[in-house]
Amino acid sequence: MMTNLNSLALQIHQALLKAFGEPIWRNPLPAIDELVSTILSQNTNDVNRDRAFHALRAKFPTWESVRDAEEREVVEAIRPAGLANQKGPRIRQVLKEITQERGSLDLQFLSDMPLEEARAWLTKFNGVGPKTAAIVLCFALGRPAFPVDTHVYRVTGRIGLRPEKMTVEQAHPHLEAVFPPETYYAAHLNIIRLGREVCHARKPLCPKCPVRELCGYKDKTG
Ligand code: SF4
Repeated sequence: MMTNLNSLALQIHQALLKAFGEPIWRNPLPAIDELVSTILSQNTNDVNRDRAFHALRAKFPTWESVRDAEEREVVEAIRPAGLANQKGPRIRQVLKEITQERGSLDLQFLSDMPLEEARAWLTKFNGVGPKTAAIVLCFALGRPAFPVDTHVYRVTGRIGLRPEKMTVEQAHPHLEAVFPPETYYAAHLNIIRLGREVCHARKPLCPKCPVRELCGYKDKTG
């Protein structure tokens, strides 16, 4: 049964498609690459994430060699991403634990696992939260998971697509229930774009916003 929130989500999705078009995620990566890239992206921007990712790939030809490398070499390579002393050991630890459990670093098996099991499998690793798991599932494996990053969290809260007080963890299953699965990919990317270009954290540009008529933000301007 379609609720008011489902209908609002669909209208937001359609208005964003009209304004921004069909978004395209950068080249899809294998799931293990996406996992490492998303850990690198924590607390930094896409440019620094990509610089660190490419530096890591240039220095180590395989993920097995990252896993087996000296910690300081990995930390050195990923400096551009920031928090390298935290992210380096975290990445190596995840690679080690996956190998121990699966005997390889191939995550393709997650494609065939029931979605909630796949999500639980990924989030059991230290440093892999619901957003990271959803990015791997949605963008590398084509599974219906809706990643909630800082922009998606802020913008959906303002529009009224989720209760204001909900945590980011709770927002994942909530928004997955609110948006139709076939819209996750485009809605996620277009809402991020809306957050970056229009619905800024400090001063949202409401008069220029393509979803202004649909937005329930109490401090909406213009
Ligand atoms: S109308 Fe304003 S608050 Fe609402 S989504 Fe647009 S920019 Fe954000």
